[in-house]
Amino acid sequence: MAIESDVLVIGGGLAGATAAIEAARGGASVRLVAHKENTLRNASGLIDVLGYNGGDEPLVEPFEAIADLPDEHPYRKVGVEAVRESLALFDEIAGDLYEGGHTETNALSPTYGGRVKPTGRYPKSAAAGLASRTEDTLLVGFEIVTSFDAPLAAERLDSSVPFDVRGVTIRFPGEFRADARITRLATALDADELRDREQRLGTREALAARVAEYLGDAERVGFPALLGDDEHQAVREALETELGVPVFEVPMGPPSLPGMRLEDRLYEELDAEGVRVESGNPVVGYTADDGRITAVSVDRGRREVPYHAEQFVLATGGLVGKGIDSSREGVSEPVFDCHVPQPEERYEWFHDRVFDDQPYARFGVSVDDGLRPLDSSGEPEFSNLRAAGAVLGGYDMAREKSASGVSLSTGLVAGQRANEDLQ
Ligand SMILES: Cc1cc2nc3c(=O)[nH]c(=O)nc-3n(C[C@H](O)[C@H](O)[C@H](O)COP(=O)(O)OP(=O)(O)OC[C@H]3O[C@@H](n4cnc5c(N)ncnc54)[C@H](O)[C@@H]3O)c2cc1C
Repeated sequence: MAIESDVLVIGGGLAGATAAIEAARGGASVRLVAHKENTLRNASGLIDVLGYNGGDEPLVEPFEAIADLPDEHPYRKVGVEAVRESLALFDEIAGDLYEGGHTETNALSPTYGGRVKPTGRYPKSAAAGLASRTEDTLLVGFEIVTSFDAPLAAERLDSSVPFDVRGVTIRFPGEFRADARITRLATALDADELRDREQRLGTREALAARVAEYLGDAERVGFPALLGDDEHQAVREALETELGVPVFEVPMGPPSLPGMRLEDRLYEELDAEGVRVESGNPVVGYTADDGRITAVSVDRGRREVPYHAEQFVLATGGLVGKGIDSSREGVSEPVFDCHVPQPEERYEWFHDRVFDDQPYARFGVSVDDGLRPLDSSGEPEFSNLRAAGAVLGGYDMAREKSASGVSLSTGLVAGQRANEDLQ
């Protein structure tokens, strides 16, 4: 049976999911094909809009700075109102999982390295840790979680914020292998496994009892982001009740519990909107006729299967997600072989000073205002293909702190334009 849909989205990250949800809400039948996991599982879970614009000073008002971005920046292609609209969509989908939608001003969230980072939306579980709240803080790390050095993070944070920060490293209650992943610790808190048979304490109570010894006059307590998975709200509330102060999670690197919680929420929404989601197989090629894509081929192991659609959205990620490939021969977009602007000389890809504005960080497909990828002469590659998220060029997500905002806003507009062209 032929596989057909109105809109076919390639890529299951923040950009692809947003495009698919928006297109489905517009009335289209939508299919989303994702090869592997997306980067949300590795990302901090913070939704950055625009944290910096060139200088070292964090931006307070990200929306006001969008007009100053270069013409080729994705935010300039979609326009500031689309960025706002995409965050409103995010707020609606994320619901009680996230905060920050009450203001257009950036929040300052502590990072696991002990810095503060400007961000547009933050998990509710991180809210009590914001630097705008000036309560004295205790950061708690665990011997078993070597990626978070609480005393060091506290020392760094203490030197840059107007409140006291202390850090302590303790043993996580219970017996765990030295290489236990933080997801294992999270599920122990979820299940509240009985760990202390004499005192009959569950994991949550046992953890609180250990932390209480170091609480002193701290007015809030931060943990690495592992306070439960399915039951994260209950875990945090239990710790707050036991300790008598607000408890927060410090966003972490991979694997990221806040990123996974957000991913679950997005995929629930895809399901609710009737999007057909397929994971595990890559799109490896396409057929086109008269400047329009007619189908893409999905590699299903034994054979390549054509997936037909009227409109296509390319949301395959950047260098990390393999939506953009780089080799000695150059930088390329592997699915449709869209043009990726790049300096001819390889030594012009980067500057010697690591923290300089690096050209390679902006590699990606360039698009018109309708997010259609452009060929080397500046014409749309295909009339029915749009690109969204990290596959786009013209912005430096790491330097600007704009990754999720770009994925949301370009995903939203790609979904909308695909729908409009169906009419
Ligand atoms: C370590 C790390 C930390 C981060 N921290 C932050 C942060 O603090 N704040 C923030 O805002 N953002 C952060 N991000 C970025 C953010 O999470 C996303 O990476 C970004 O929004 C890009 O999303 P995307 O949907 O464009 O791409 P991705 O999330 O990379 O998704 C791409 C999808 O396309 C699929 N795909 C690729 N090729 C094919 C193919 N041929 N066929 C089918 N499917 C394909 C992939 O399998 C994947 O599902 C971080 C990212 C990383 C890696």
